Amino acid sequence: MACIRLRNAISHLETPPPHSLRMQPRSQTKQRPAGRFCDRLPMPLPLTADREAKLQKAIVERLSTWRSTTPKFPEEANVTNKLTPEHLQRRAIIYVRQSSVIQVLQNRESQLRQYNLAGYARELGFVEVETIDEDLGRSASGLVDRPGFQRLVSEICEGQIGAVFCLEASRLARNGRDWHHLIELCGLVGAVLIDPEGIYDPRVINDRLVLGLRGTMSEFELGLLRQRSVEAIRQKAKRGELHFILPVGLCWVTAGKIELNPDIRVQNAIHLVLQKFQQLGSARQVLLWCREQQITLPALGYSEGAAHVYWKLPVYSTILAILENPLYAGAYAFGKTEARTKVVAGRPQQTSGHPKPREQWTVLILDHHPGYISWEQFEQNQKALAENAHRHSRLGRQSGRGGPSLLVGLLRCRRCGRMLQVHYGHRSIRYRCMSGNIKQGLPMCIAFGQVRVDRAVSREVLQAIQPLAIEAALEAADQVQRGQHEGTRALQLELEQARYEARLAARRYEAIDPENRLVAGELESRWNRALLRVRELENRVSQAEQKSASAPVVSREDLLALAEDLPSVWESPSSDPSLKQKIMRILIEEIVADVDDGAQEVALVMHD
Ligand SMILES: [Zn+2]
Repeated sequence: MACIRLRNAISHLETPPPHSLRMQPRSQTKQRPAGRFCDRLPMPLPLTADREAKLQKAIVERLSTWRSTTPKFPEEANVTNKLTPEHLQRRAIIYVRQSSVIQVLQNRESQLRQYNLAGYARELGFVEVETIDEDLGRSASGLVDRPGFQRLVSEICEGQIGAVFCLEASRLARNGRDWHHLIELCGLVGAVLIDPEGIYDPRVINDRLVLGLRGTMSEFELGLLRQRSVEAIRQKAKRGELHFILPVGLCWVTAGKIELNPDIRVQNAIHLVLQKFQQLGSARQVLLWCREQQITLPALGYSEGAAHVYWKLPVYSTILAILENPLYAGAYAFGKTEARTKVVAGRPQQTSGHPKPREQWTVLILDHHPGYISWEQFEQNQKALAENAHRHSRLGRQSGRGGPSLLVGLLRCRRCGRMLQVHYGHRSIRYRCMSGNIKQGLPMCIAFGQVRVDRAVSREVLQAIQPLAIEAALEAADQVQRGQHEGTRALQLELEQARYEARLAARRYEAIDPENRLVAGELESRWNRALLRVRELENRVSQAEQKSASAPVVSREDLLALAEDLPSVWESPSSDPSLKQKIMRILIEEIVADVDDGAQEVALVMHD
């Protein structure tokens, strides 16, 4: 082929110029500037066989020099010529990666193909072949640490690697930084990248272009996929149809709706926590009560991909998770947390689960499904929790934590707007506005004694609640009775479940052939353990029943009598100061205080 083409080229060159040009009259060519090549073109020599042979020889010589000086001659750009014996003497690395754990577990075919590249490497002539598969289940987006990729890079730097094999070039990196760094290093040490599509030598400018494009495409592809899936998730969530893992006590039913868990024991436990919070007013108090009563709460566990409920004594976060989750109030909420990225040691690091303020939640649909409490109750709980958090800011009102001063966290300075602090002196307790003084060195705003102010505010409050005291006393009597039953009820349900589990263990034991001693022995010991648990719970239930029976009975008459004489109950040294602080917080939003220096008076404005 080459020879024919050459011959044609020669014959074209040697052919005399077209007749029309040669025979143009002088007048038409006159305007052309002198010295153009066509004017000086020598007359073509006749093409003899001898001359043709000479020309052919000259061209072949020129081509062969070109070939030896230019390695990128098209015929050489095939697969085999890019792999030199030097490459084959070095090691080959097979890089195996899949982006997620689900892919690793389910898409075994792709994994197998990646491992099979080792055979391909040996076929090509590599003797030493190493597989790096530490990055199975890790994304190549650049946000996750990839120990395998880092090892790959460091081994390439050592110059001992001849080729890197992967199923697609994009497995190596889906972010520009890692990808171009890798190509750069391979180019420097003379390693090639090999995938089933071909061999790429980053030192060859064309290959480098192709590799660069592939890297860009793969980064773009990842971005596009992510954008599409995020948008699809958002749209589905906006309709309230996106399924996610529900907290314990709620479950998805077949019609794609959320319902309360049909297990009455689970329902009862969630109700108990929510009721106790309303009663005790603090998550920590609920925790202490549960711990004291040895009440276990349900939690979700996972085994073999399926969720199951198990029971454990609560910790603080268990209680908080129930109180703060809007799903328990019948609301569908999605996008409550966000991921944040920061750069650590030159690499991006992503952390997730940072809570967002409610106005920034992606989706919030009220009355989406049956809940354990109403939305109004949920809002009240959040407000109480926020106040309990007792933030360091001097700008918001704070909850009471016991202590002798009644109005702590409720008094605001009229002069600077900050909350007053309590100062415990040797002889007296005083309310003072000190924040400006402490933080900015300003003169102290106001200060006054605690006793008279507390007494004056108490008088006002008692006057306001006196008419309701009798009603409250009757409600309290009911609550005392209910409270005695709550702890016992949780235990009774636990006992019921333990009895069921014991019956189940018995049935399993009876179903097995007694001759099968190994299995029968294990099932028998399980049955025994279940029976022991039943006995232990029976004891605890009877103890709890005895305890509630022997508890001092608070009669309605006593409570009514107390309600009649509210002021003396209030002033009694035995009354609980934190309870009094709580009552103050229910009735009073805040009190703005100022001191009239001239008249030696404290002016209080109560907001309720
Ligand atoms: Zn002040």
